[in-house]
Amino acid sequence: MFIYIYINEKCRILLNPHRKVISMVKVKIDKDLCTSCSVCANLCPDVFMMGDDGKSSIVEKFRGASDAEGDIPAELLDCARAAADSCPAQAITIEE
Ligand code: SF4
Repeated sequence: MFIYIYINEKCRILLNPHRKVISMVKVKIDKDLCTSCSVCANLCPDVFMMGDDGKSSIVEKFRGASDAEGDIPAELLDCARAAADSCPAQAITIEE
């Protein structure tokens, strides 16, 4: 089980089951660009899902202020990057 520690809007810490700090990476989806193709959700379901609005969203456990942004553990970076690179609308941004 992972444990979140919320410091502030820009800083969150995730602890893994061994209470080890995992560094976090910010992921954003531009919903205006998203064409609802589902590629990201299929390639990286640990990070992306299709939301009620029909657009890509960050999965609930990693969500930030909205479903269009969140902080993911660095171990999911390769998966998120593959989704971002495959997004035909270039709607996904990853801040490392
Ligand atoms: S791959 Fe890009 S365009 Fe397709 S659903 Fe995901 S964010 Fe939207």
